[in-house]
Amino acid sequence: MSFKDLKLNKPLLKAIAESGYDEPTLIQERCIPPILDKKNVIASAQTGTGKTAGFALPILQLLSDKQDAPKRQKKIRSLIVSPTRELAVQINENFKTYAKYTNLRSSVLFGGTSIEPQIDILKKGIDILIATPGRLLDLHKQDYVNLDHVEVFVLDEADLMLDMGFIDDIKKIERLCPTHKQSLLFSATIPYKVEQLANSILAEPIRIDVTPENSSISSINQVLYYVPKRNKIELCLHLLRNTVKGRILIFRRTKFGVDKLEKTLLKNGYKADSIHGDKSQSDRQTALNKFKTGYVKILIATDVAARGIDISELDAVINFDLPSVPETYIHRIGRTGRAGNIGAAFSLCSADEKSYIKKIQEAINVQIPIETEHPYPLDPKAKPIVHKKKGSKYKKGRKGSGSKKKKKRWY
Ligand code: AMP
Repeated sequence: MSFKDLKLNKPLLKAIAESGYDEPTLIQERCIPPILDKKNVIASAQTGTGKTAGFALPILQLLSDKQDAPKRQKKIRSLIVSPTRELAVQINENFKTYAKYTNLRSSVLFGGTSIEPQIDILKKGIDILIATPGRLLDLHKQDYVNLDHVEVFVLDEADLMLDMGFIDDIKKIERLCPTHKQSLLFSATIPYKVEQLANSILAEPIRIDVTPENSSISSINQVLYYVPKRNKIELCLHLLRNTVKGRILIFRRTKFGVDKLEKTLLKNGYKADSIHGDKSQSDRQTALNKFKTGYVKILIATDVAARGIDISELDAVINFDLPSVPETYIHRIGRTGRAGNIGAAFSLCSADEKSYIKKIQEAINVQIPIETEHPYPLDPKAKPIVHKKKGSKYKKGRKGSGSKKKKKRWY
């Protein structure tokens, strides 16, 4: 199938050709026709499948009727809500690329950065707004964002939105848009909670599933290292010196862990950078750019910070900490071995993570080969260390004490 068969208009076809895309990806083939048909869609597709173009192209075509409105009379006709700033920026870049030969204007709003330039852009008039929930609601409250004219509403990475606790914000945003609109929901996976959300905001949606083919996992060399927790950093350094080469993404579970590992790698002479939720927007973007351009070869990230970011040509992923959810393991390692290349995934498993490996292997239906030849083997009989829960920091009994305290994000 070609993009022409999908009945996309000439300005879009020209931009697609310039992007070097020969043919639509599977998700594009399946999403573009129903979206052009103004249907509601719920789609499971991961980053790397071409899903952004899957909704951006038909949205641009649907909005092209009133594209010549004078700039200041432009109304926000499509709203795309994204969980993270990096992903929002990436989506906007996609829209700008595909809209190159149209008069449609898009812009992006996200927190952690100065609000004034974003207000100026809104005042100038845009057709498509990409935003993270917090800043969007903030600017709406201040009357700079008017969502009364939204025709197409998109929720991207819905599962991550829910994991990040954005459920109430999403529902609020959806209600700020007109009742009669087209709604699209994209999610890497569709667990029950996403389905519930979809049921509450999408009427009679068309369901599209583009789950990764098994072949994408089989094109990745997976290796498992059992190692005591205290030796993980040494083993990681050992692997970087001897085994893992090229552009490497290292996953850690917590922000603290990311910072700690970054410091150690820098001290050992590696060019490394990191992204996590506590870093400023500009620091995160700089780190990403340095990694994308190859200036640094090692990027350390939490799952939430790295989700949805399109980093191609990755040679290896190191799971410094194992994820407790098998789908997260699949997302992580799926970032290597793309487009016919052989990727590599190295997982460091301590005694307390053995149960995670069991679940992961069941989910991928593969026994991950174990590498025993390394300097820090784990005693096979080692039992996980159980930390006793300490008492609450907050005094019990006082009405309201601690209950309203905002939970600090650890990702
Ligand atoms: P996404 O899943 O939207 O993050 O897209 C992943 C990558 O695929 C991006 O770098 C896109 O530029 C690229 N891409 C999107 N559609 C196509 C296509 N039809 N052919 C080749 N690459 C594409």
